[in-house]
Amino acid sequence: MTLGDFKLKRSHIISVAHGSDLLRFITELAEKEKITNAVFFGIGALKCATLGAYDQQRHEYLEIAIETPHEIASCTGNISLKDGKPFVHAHAVLSDEKGSVKAGHLFGGVVFAAELLIQEFDGPRLERKVDELTGLSLWEATKN
Ligand code: ZN
Repeated sequence: MTLGDFKLKRSHIISVAHGSDLLRFITELAEKEKITNAVFFGIGALKCATLGAYDQQRHEYLEIAIETPHEIASCTGNISLKDGKPFVHAHAVLSDEKGSVKAGHLFGGVVFAAELLIQEFDGPRLERKVDELTGLSLWEATKN
């Protein structure tokens, strides 16, 4: 199901502050810059992180604690609205000193260094609403 016709808007290239929480940093930037429709990509390194895996039967997240430094081999996500405020949804692939990876939904991570490209879109308003079938907050689009 397509949610509408979106057009490229502003691009933001970001160096994330050392020691900040990656998700909080992106959320605060989105609030400041009024970013409500966007996707982003990033690489870098985290000092520690919390990943999640969604239990599709129980409709709840299981947390995976990453307590040692890892590379952000890949981080991808999006920004939309939830309860009227910018909401960041991110997934990450994190690799250790041997190149072994852990991956999943990103709940948070303390940044050692990170570089992001955030690409905004003009188009319908993307708002997250609770979906009974999955238990997740999924997108609904309404005209802006
Ligand atoms: Zn997720």
